[in-house]
Amino acid sequence: MEEMDTSKVIRVCGIEPESIVDGPGFRYVLFVQGCPHHCKGCHNPESWDPNGGYDMTVRDILDEIKAKPNIKGVTFSGGEPFEQARPLVDLARYLKGMRYSLMSYSGYTLEELEAKAESDSAVGELLGMIDILVDGRYEEKLRNLTLVYCGSENQRVIDMNKTREARAAGKGDEVVLYKSDFDFEIKII
Ligand code: SF4
Repeated sequence: MEEMDTSKVIRVCGIEPESIVDGPGFRYVLFVQGCPHHCKGCHNPESWDPNGGYDMTVRDILDEIKAKPNIKGVTFSGGEPFEQARPLVDLARYLKGMRYSLMSYSGYTLEELEAKAESDSAVGELLGMIDILVDGRYEEKLRNLTLVYCGSENQRVIDMNKTREARAAGKGDEVVLYKSDFDFEIKII
């Protein structure tokens, strides 16, 4: 792997070192600090202030992840991960090099992120490494507790690898939704 800088700082709201609800399999979840979307009914409003939270370096986070051999994937949540795209690119490069699957939440839609990437190369680089993207703001009036990995019906769980493949094959703006190998239903009692 090429030499990379692990000293970059990520402003963090918190971490969940072993989650089974923020993506497929056992995942390390990094909740980044700072979110411009301010969705009504947000589950994590303390993550909005970009000056809140605390600092972790890319190295700090890698050390925590590598200490947990059962972790197979990492999820970026928030807060808004794509507001800290530059340091997350460094972290994501290491993680992809070590074959972790990468999932990210974003209050931006995929199409908004693609538009942002035209003026911010880090957004494009980060998006290019994500395997599963859950996109769009949380819409309280579209809340649905039976959805897997997202909270409101406007949000999409996107298989980014298949989306990139479809687009490379000339299928324009196609978006391929993620389908789990372990599809299940959540029943509300
Ligand atoms: S994008 Fe997520 S973290 Fe940001 S305000 Fe909306 S629900 Fe909250």
